[in-house]
Amino acid sequence: MALVLERLESGYGKLKVLFGVSLRVEKNTVTALLGSNGAGKTTTLLTAMGVVKPWAGRVFLDGKDVTDVPPHKKVELGMALVPEGRRLFADMTVEENLLMGAYTKRAREKVLDTLEWVYSLFPRLRERRRQKAGTMSGGEQQMLAIARALMSRPKVLLLDEPSAGLAPKVVADLFDVVKRLKEEVSILLVEQNVAASLEISDYAYVLENGHIVKEGAPQELAQDEYVKKAYLGV
Ligand code: ATP
Repeated sequence: MALVLERLESGYGKLKVLFGVSLRVEKNTVTALLGSNGAGKTTTLLTAMGVVKPWAGRVFLDGKDVTDVPPHKKVELGMALVPEGRRLFADMTVEENLLMGAYTKRAREKVLDTLEWVYSLFPRLRERRRQKAGTMSGGEQQMLAIARALMSRPKVLLLDEPSAGLAPKVVADLFDVVKRLKEEVSILLVEQNVAASLEISDYAYVLENGHIVKEGAPQELAQDEYVKKAYLGV
């Protein structure tokens, strides 16, 4: 298993948001964590990363207990988060943004190789490497945010709502890329776009009010009466 979350509980101040979230990301898969606004998806990623401290439960990366490892050390160990809203450096070029992603020791040692690898995954970014990030389209910026996270050479990539604010055609292109990426890294994909996510994931979980309420193969979930009604609008 690339990533295992075991009965994670966390929240903000006195507000409890996660009530024992357990999930597994198998190596070289896309695992989707689906749910509506406020379900606790982002909080799950932040707690896995250690940005939000777990109140209870464990986090395992590649079989190793990393629950109490701080976020920057988790990056060093091979976990990377692409936050909602991308957080690019708008006035910096594509390449400068990418280089900012290579801050781990592991990544710095072979930054040129890694850059080459990332450009081979995203040829469009190579073409645009001298363009300012802020002038790129929404879809290109999302690709850049993912590519920047890959610069740390992660084993596990946590993707927070990459489809947010993008047109359906752009989402389709982006999800094609995500699907191809699983050959390189294991992916936990957080999404509100349930239909599109089920198409590219190998396994999926549904989160509601901080509880996992359903899990299964995407084909099964897509046929599930409850999922159809609550998330697929049918
Ligand atoms: P969205 O798709 O809107 O991001 P989500 O499923 O990712 O939804 P979270 O962002 O994890 O949901 O939020 C879960 C709950 O935690 C919400 O009730 C939210 O208001 C609350 N929350 C999130 N961040 C904070 C914070 N920094 N301080 C206090 N409460 C927060």
